[in-house]
Parts: sequence; C-alpha cells; structure tokens
Amino acid sequence: MRLRRKLAILSVLLLLALILSSCGSQPANQQQQQYKFVGSIHSNIYHYPDCKWAQRIKPENQIWFSSPEEAKAAGYRPCRVCRPPG
Ligand SMILES: [Zn+2]
Repeated sequence: MRLRRKLAILSVLLLLALILSSCGSQPANQQQQQYKFVGSIHSNIYHYPDCKWAQRIKPENQIWFSSPEEAKAAGYRPCRVCRPPG
C-alpha cells in the first residue's frame, strides 16, 4: 500500500516535471519569432532570414532586428534582393 502511494507521487512529480520543461522551452521560441530581420555586423544591410544573402552570414556575425525601424536606428538599410520593408 505504501509503495503504491510512493509510485503515485512519483508519477505526479514526473508529470509536473514534463509540464514544466515544456513550458520552459516556450519563451525561447517566442523570442525567436520576435526577430524578423537579420543583418551582418560587417555590413549595413538587413534581410529577411530566408534571403540567400542572409543565409551566407555566419551565426557569429548575425545581428537581429524585430522591426525595420530598429534596423534603421542601428544604421542599416533594406536589402535590394529580398526587399524587406523600411
Ligand atoms: Zn536580402
């Protein structure tokens, strides 16, 4: 009887841990969705992330913007190939 109770508590704890870990991964996804445009720290041009030029930027050189205004405030201009707003 005692063992059964322990097992029940353990399974509840496991469930809780699963729920908590799935919640914990959500904010990271939402953060990624906030950034819509990407530029290189070595240029002054910003792109849509699926632009062929954006995909050539190394991850360590990427700079992300959530809006055209933010990119322009940092001195960046829209790419002529993928034509992001701004
Ligand atoms: Zn582009």
